[in-house]
Amino acid sequence: MFEVVIGLEVHTQLNTKTKIFCSCATSFGEMPNTNVCPTCLALPGALPVLNEEAVKKAISFGQAIHATINKKSIFNRKNYFYPDLPKAYQISQFDIPIVEKGELFIDINGENKRIGITRAHLEEDAGKNIHESDFSKVDLNRAGTPLLEIVSEPELRSSDEAVAYLKKLHSIIRFLDISDANMQEGSFRCDANVSIRPKGEKKLYTRVEIKNLNSFRFIQKAIEYEVKRQIDAWEDGIYDKEVVQETRLFDTTKLITRSMRNKEESAEYRYFPDPDLLPVCLKDEFLECEIPELPDEKKLRYIKDFGIKENDAQILISSLEMSRFFENLIAQKLNPKLCVTWLNTELMGLLKAELTIENSPVDAEKLGSLIRCIEQGVISAKAAKEVLAFVFENVDFGIDEAIEKLGLKQVSDDTAIEAVIEDILKANQDKVREYKNGKDKLFGFFVGQVMKEGKGAFNPAKVNEILKAKLA
Ligand code: ADP
Ligand code: MG
Ligand code: ZN
Repeated sequence: MFEVVIGLEVHTQLNTKTKIFCSCATSFGEMPNTNVCPTCLALPGALPVLNEEAVKKAISFGQAIHATINKKSIFNRKNYFYPDLPKAYQISQFDIPIVEKGELFIDINGENKRIGITRAHLEEDAGKNIHESDFSKVDLNRAGTPLLEIVSEPELRSSDEAVAYLKKLHSIIRFLDISDANMQEGSFRCDANVSIRPKGEKKLYTRVEIKNLNSFRFIQKAIEYEVKRQIDAWEDGIYDKEVVQETRLFDTTKLITRSMRNKEESAEYRYFPDPDLLPVCLKDEFLECEIPELPDEKKLRYIKDFGIKENDAQILISSLEMSRFFENLIAQKLNPKLCVTWLNTELMGLLKAELTIENSPVDAEKLGSLIRCIEQGVISAKAAKEVLAFVFENVDFGIDEAIEKLGLKQVSDDTAIEAVIEDILKANQDKVREYKNGKDKLFGFFVGQVMKEGKGAFNPAKVNEILKAKLA
């Protein structure tokens, strides 16, 4: 009966070394008010100078989403007063952003859906207010950090679609390496605009903006709550009174949204071109920059080049770190299918929920050595699991040392295996006769007996080979 309409604004902090209009460092977690200078402190007369890296990162994002890159874009002043914004205006882009009219694709209910991206523009971040019991403090270290604000069309139709969009956006940004997109540290935060309308209607109804959501789960919950609130109001006949254009905050303990302030119209910001900054005019060479391989392309290439399943490829591109780990294994010239099993199933199984691939105690080099040992028959797959679990807990051990310590080295030495085989054949002469008379099935019996005698340490391939020769 109702259709949900969602448009998302995402602020992502570009990972440049310095701020967008001055040369202060952007490093996180420094002593308050140490990464500052006259420009980002807004001292009178200090002038902004645009950071070229920030522009390049915005362009590479534009290319990744097949957008128009405007050869000429303009910085505007967006006027408002906050204690953490000492200039009393934010430098942003308004009518001519650097990136316009892009798209990305989400997989939803077995369908590949296109979501339009209206614009992506450069702007500076504000500082941080820190409120303590009797007083408030301001830290301006973050003031002037470059942000890329990415605005979607109102084309998302459910909280699931919104989360799928954000995850896709997040992974594109990570693969481009233009931001660390760390949600806890606020370098990837989202405002969700939510409205409802009777199914079939084309006009947009009043939107509510929920500010500063910084986890996928909260975004999902905030949208679900807000949709229900609006539908309830409609059904109770109080929609016009209850649903007004406003900014709301999400209460992460009660999982509800609360009104924060009436939504400003853009006219209230009195945007005008910043007279301290020239228009940004891009030379052609800027527009032709190469971008790294993106997650969707990577996935297709993995499936094609390594013959692996789509599911596995999906896990491998689930994060930049995961795909780097996999490509590191492949670079060691190991069997791709073994790499997938040992990374996706075995190592991920040990990492579980608490750890991620970035802080895995076993790195790609170590896992590679282990896979090499399996390939070369030094240890069995079963023993390799034990070795992996051991080096996972005992980081100081190398693979060879661990195999040694656990006594898991397979015996590939012919004489030792031969001796056991001879004993077994001698003790089972009647079966040897039956085998030679055509009872092929007995081969398995001999293998079993030999392996049992070898207590699991014999290389099965070697056992097979020697047994065949002896029985021929
Ligand atoms: P503002 O800065 O005022 O929030 P923007 O243009 O930056 O404006 O962002 C508006 C966002 O709201 C866009 O993502 C847009 O798709 C979305 N939006 C606009 N109208 C609606 C609506 N009626 N329902 C849901 N989303 C909407
Ligand atoms: Mg907004
Ligand atoms: Zn500065």
